[in-house]
Amino acid sequence: MPVDTPRLLINMDALAANYRTLKRAALGFEVAPVVKADAYGLGAVQVSERLWEEGARTFYVARLSEGEALRKAMGSKQADILVLDGAPLGSGPQLKAGGLVPVLNSLEQIERWRKEAGDAPLPAALHVDTGINRLGLTMAEVEMLAKRPDRLKGLEIGWVLSHLACADEPGNPLNPKQRLRFDDARFLFRGAKASLANSAGIFISPLYIFDQVRPGISLYGGDPTGQHGDLLQTVATLEAPILQVRDVAPGESIGYGGDFVATRPMKVAIIGAGYADGILRSTSKGGVVWYADGPRPVVGQVSMDLTAIDVTDVPQGEDFGDMVELIGPNLSLDAAAAAAGTTAYELLVRIGARAERTWKRFS
Ligand SMILES: *Cc1c(COP(=O)(O)O)cnc(C)c1O
Repeated sequence: MPVDTPRLLINMDALAANYRTLKRAALGFEVAPVVKADAYGLGAVQVSERLWEEGARTFYVARLSEGEALRKAMGSKQADILVLDGAPLGSGPQLKAGGLVPVLNSLEQIERWRKEAGDAPLPAALHVDTGINRLGLTMAEVEMLAKRPDRLKGLEIGWVLSHLACADEPGNPLNPKQRLRFDDARFLFRGAKASLANSAGIFISPLYIFDQVRPGISLYGGDPTGQHGDLLQTVATLEAPILQVRDVAPGESIGYGGDFVATRPMKVAIIGAGYADGILRSTSKGGVVWYADGPRPVVGQVSMDLTAIDVTDVPQGEDFGDMVELIGPNLSLDAAAAAAGTTAYELLVRIGARAERTWKRFS
C-alpha cells in the first residue's frame, strides 16, 4: 500500500483501559463519556461503541447534529445521548425525533422543550452555571424552578449538571466555590443524577464526584492535571511518512520565508504532514517529532502538506523505516501540545481529515 499521507492509529484497548481507570478514580460512580467533536477527533461512533461494551450508557455530545449521528449509529442500543447545546431555536422536533436529551441552559430552552412534550413527559437535563459563566441557568433561576414545579411540567429532570472552570488547578478557590453552589442546586432536584466533574475534576477530590462524571480528554489519553499522565494509556498515535531526505549545506535556508538557515552541513527529512493535517504552524519553532529513537527538531516553517525535520544526528546506514511519530507513545499528546503552544484538546481536534484513521483492537 503506498504511503504518502499521515495516519492516525486509535488504540481501542487503551481507550477501554482509560475508561476503567477513570471508573476506579470515580470510586465506581457512573462514567459518562464526552464524545463531542467526533470524540475529540477520534471517531464518536467507534469510541461510543467500544465504551458501551465497557458499560457506558450515557454519552455527551455538543451539537444536535452530533447527537443525531450518534443515535443513528447506536441502532438498538438504548443509550442516553445528552446534547450540551440544549434546545436552541428550532431544534425541539429534531431532538425529540432523535430521542436525544437536551441539557437545558436557559428558561427559554426549558419552555421550548416543554412545548414538545405530549402526554408522556420528556426527559431533560438542567445545566446550572456555578461560576464558569458560559452556559447554564443562574442559581436564582434554579431556585425559582424548584419552587415552581409548574414551570417544569411535562419534563422529567433526569440530570442536574454543572461545569468546572479551573479543575486543572486543584488549588484554585473557584473549585470549592462551584462545588458548594452545585451542592445547593442538586439538593433542589434530588431525583436527578448529579454530575459535575470533567476529567480534571475527577482528580481534585472525591467531593467532586457526585453520581456521574463526564470525562473527555482523559479517555483519549490526555493528562488532565499534569500529574496523572502515568495512569492513562496512549490512545492516539499520529505518524507521517518521510518523503525525501536531503543534504543542506551551511548558509542554505529551509522552507518558506527562508528564516531557518543551516549553520552546519545538515541532513533534513521532509515529512508528508503539514498544517492541513494538524501540524500547527506554531510548531515551527521548538517542535519535535520522534524518529530513530530520539526527538528530531522541526526546522523552518511548517507548510500545508510538508514539514522539515533535522535528522543530521541519526546514525547513518541504519534502516529506521520511513514513518515518524508526531504524537504517540514516545511523544505524548501533552508534550506535543506544549511544544505547539497549545493544549492536548486543541491538538487532537485539529488533526486533519486527511489523516487515515485506523481503529485497532486486540481485546
Ligand atoms: C467538554 C466537556 C466535558 C469534558 O471535559 P474534559 O476536560 O475533556 O474531560 C465535560 N463537561 C462539559 C460540560 C464539557 O463541555
